[in-house]
Amino acid sequence: MAMEKEPAQVLRDIAGQVRSYLTVQQELGLESVDLRWPASQAPVTLRPSLAEVREALGECTRCKLHAHRRQIVFGVGNPRASLAFVGEAPGADEDAQGEPFVGRAGQLLTKIIEAMGMHREDVYICNIIKCRPPNNRTPEADEIVACQPFLLQQLRAIGPRFICALGGPAAQTLLQTKEPISRLRGRFHDYHGIPLLPTFHPAFLLRNPNEKKTVWEDMKLLLRHMQPS
Ligand code: URA
Repeated sequence: MAMEKEPAQVLRDIAGQVRSYLTVQQELGLESVDLRWPASQAPVTLRPSLAEVREALGECTRCKLHAHRRQIVFGVGNPRASLAFVGEAPGADEDAQGEPFVGRAGQLLTKIIEAMGMHREDVYICNIIKCRPPNNRTPEADEIVACQPFLLQQLRAIGPRFICALGGPAAQTLLQTKEPISRLRGRFHDYHGIPLLPTFHPAFLLRNPNEKKTVWEDMKLLLRHMQPS
């Protein structure tokens, strides 16, 4: 696994985690932080529950997408999943049903999960943003920035052992890189200490069925790491 990080990147990651944590705590009503230490007895919990993260998100109006959505598509699956799939954004079906990956691409994702010997209920499925962009366009930077603290806390709440990023926007957002998915896929990267494997998005596979075998190679790599011999 290529997971060595520059010290400066490690510090940036820690600062990002603290910022994300405080953002969500602020949403939950935190007004000040007691910095006395070690005298302070304040409990420090860096792992919120999924319900707390959902509550902090509320009926979100933090970015312009709220005006177009039917509902927030938070995430679905096992709240203690070992594996989390993170896609790009809800589409029309997801916006209507309130659940990620339920349209054609979602049905293909379900097949992939089942081919891996699991069920949808075993894993956790979410997206980098929680509201449908108009005409299914790619999420914009301000929308991603507004949603990021909640995705980070959501993933922290679940605590998956592995993350699979589906498609370029998801992989690039999670890994903070502009590298194309064709170069990112097929190997593990580090996401806040969790091994993250990018692969092609199921919607891309619907348009390019020849690449299904590539994704299957990626899933076999994931399975080998999930089931240590
Ligand atoms: N594509 C995604 O990236 N996410 C969904 O939830 C549905 C389609």
